[in-house]
Amino acid sequence: MARYRDANCKLCRREGEKLFLKGQRCTTDKCSFERRPFAPGQHGQNFRRKVSAYGLQLREKQKVRRTYGVLEKQFRNYFKSADKKIGITGENLVQSLETRLDNIVYRLGFAGSRKQARQLVRHRHILVNGHIVDIPSYCLRPNELIRIKDRSKKLDLIHDALKSGRGDELPWLRLNKAALEGELLEVPKRADIPLTANEQLIVELYSK
Ligand code: SF4
Repeated sequence: MARYRDANCKLCRREGEKLFLKGQRCTTDKCSFERRPFAPGQHGQNFRRKVSAYGLQLREKQKVRRTYGVLEKQFRNYFKSADKKIGITGENLVQSLETRLDNIVYRLGFAGSRKQARQLVRHRHILVNGHIVDIPSYCLRPNELIRIKDRSKKLDLIHDALKSGRGDELPWLRLNKAALEGELLEVPKRADIPLTANEQLIVELYSK
């Protein structure tokens, strides 16, 4: 299966903001973006250019795609299905990305980053309604119960990540830290999703 293998920090530097792709490191002074807040590459520090409307749309799409760790083809498929749904296409798109299993595992605080969450899912540590689900893109529905498999409950990675307290912050998630389980209470409204992006620009990009 195709996946992005280059340095994650380059992505933050390219997008000009922290995308929090590396867990705990992102909140320390080791963060590459804190130390080098300019685009990667030989001319990243000096190169200035007026960004076109297309450029803005492209950067917004790349930022959201990279935040959720989705490759181009899959992202476009998310857009196509969001476009077919009733409602605002941009909101549908963000909701689809947000209700991915790997993202919810991250939001609940079971993993330090979406990449780690993806690994937990792929390595069969996560149960949904009592059944192992090893597909990171699995789309969760309201009231589905996400639980760490009993044999995996001692993993340091999970307990370290839980210290972030991320799982208690969102009103549309319920976290039971003691039982290492959580629940998606409802599909979140756009305003309740902590994502700084203008998804309308993505809609404009793909509607050309
Ligand atoms: Fe981005 Fe995290 Fe790397 Fe900082 S440490 S540049 S936030 S991935």
